Amino acid sequence: MNSNEIEIHKELKKYFGFSQFKGLQEQVITSILGKTNTFVIMPTGGGKSLCYQLPALIQDGTAIVVSPLIALMKNQVDAIRSLSSETGIAHVLNSSLTKTEIAQVKKDISSGLTKLLYVAPESLTKEEYVAFLQSVPISFVAIDEAHCISEWGHDFRPEYRNLRSIIKQLGKVPIIGLTATATPKVQEDILKNLDMSDANTFKASFNRPNLYYEVRTKTKNIESDIIRFIKQHKGKSGIIYCLSRKKVESIAEVLQVNGISAVPYHAGLDAKTRAKHQDMFLMEDVDVVVATIAFGMGIDKPDVRFVIHHDIPKSLESYYQETGRAGRDGGEGHCLAYYSYKDVEKLEKFMSGKPVAEQEIGFALLQEVVAYAETSMSRRKFLLHYFGEEFDSETGEGADMDDNVRNPKNKIEAKEQVVK
Ligand code: ADP
Ligand code: MG
Repeated sequence: MNSNEIEIHKELKKYFGFSQFKGLQEQVITSILGKTNTFVIMPTGGGKSLCYQLPALIQDGTAIVVSPLIALMKNQVDAIRSLSSETGIAHVLNSSLTKTEIAQVKKDISSGLTKLLYVAPESLTKEEYVAFLQSVPISFVAIDEAHCISEWGHDFRPEYRNLRSIIKQLGKVPIIGLTATATPKVQEDILKNLDMSDANTFKASFNRPNLYYEVRTKTKNIESDIIRFIKQHKGKSGIIYCLSRKKVESIAEVLQVNGISAVPYHAGLDAKTRAKHQDMFLMEDVDVVVATIAFGMGIDKPDVRFVIHHDIPKSLESYYQETGRAGRDGGEGHCLAYYSYKDVEKLEKFMSGKPVAEQEIGFALLQEVVAYAETSMSRRKFLLHYFGEEFDSETGEGADMDDNVRNPKNKIEAKEQVVK
């Protein structure tokens, strides 16, 4: 190790208590400390936050962190504050602050105390804030969840499109973009919109070798099929995703009637019930949560053993994120999706009310899901290829963990099975 490496290992230990970097963290941090634009693509849970938190803590000036969710920003600020005796080491700047609070934030930044300043993209557009940030030393700007910049991402936020021009007003500061969205299209969009084609890019593998991928044809017997599956996984935790709230309610009820402990979760339930059902799942008072995609963001239950999609997801990106909640502890994770072409048509119909550009993107993403469901090749290879990653379906890690590899079928048979 050279002196620089020793230094950042020491700082890692000092601030976070970890004795080793995870994955590509060290290379990323070295790149950021070298004042170069940097692009980080790592799966959820890969440890992206530390990639900008550590260099922010050990450099002069304040790092600006753009993040789309106020709740996530608050969590991170609390976590950073707990590492230090100074509350002012990290702040959030947003519209909910009082005048006095804003004055305190500015004071802490000006005095050099604040190392991390979290802002929502819409706050950063405020002229008053921009003028202030121009007058203080900025170490770098980190853009977390950078896929929000792309219409091809799963969470497009128009405000993210203004970031580049605002950052330019701050002078020459390095930009760090971070995302867990691995599709080449989204990556291209991020680099283009942030005008950082020169960025050092670090991409971790998205392979989850412990997840088993399976697609079953959706028939009218789907409910008894799901019940049988769950009974084969007795006492194990699992999530069932459905497209509509109504379906969530009816499946949860069917499971309960059949002696399976399950609760529904969707945005139509009041906040108290949602929190209660989520806690019941986390505390293992129930085995199964039946949910719309409203469930799962930020949920970290390590021993989820299965994720079932009662209806196909709207993109492979979402499918990867949703199934990624299984097997976080490295143990078994069974990802089962039910597929029928009728559902595809239903989703297409939903989309037809949207603006044309959005529809086109939506259809294209959906076609990839159809191709995944209908493929007879290794599903893992298919998924990883979608994320721009080569996978050797014979020798790669987890190669035999899917239905197509275990029970090869010829193409025609595969097609017949699904087109009904
Ligand atoms: P991401 O943003 O990529 O989804 P996070 O930044 O939230 O991931 O980190 C995920 C988890 O990994 C956190 O619990 C964090 O404390 C942990 N973590 C990050 N870096 C390390 C490390 N070097 N050693 C051990 N744990 C780490
Ligand atoms: Mg993150």
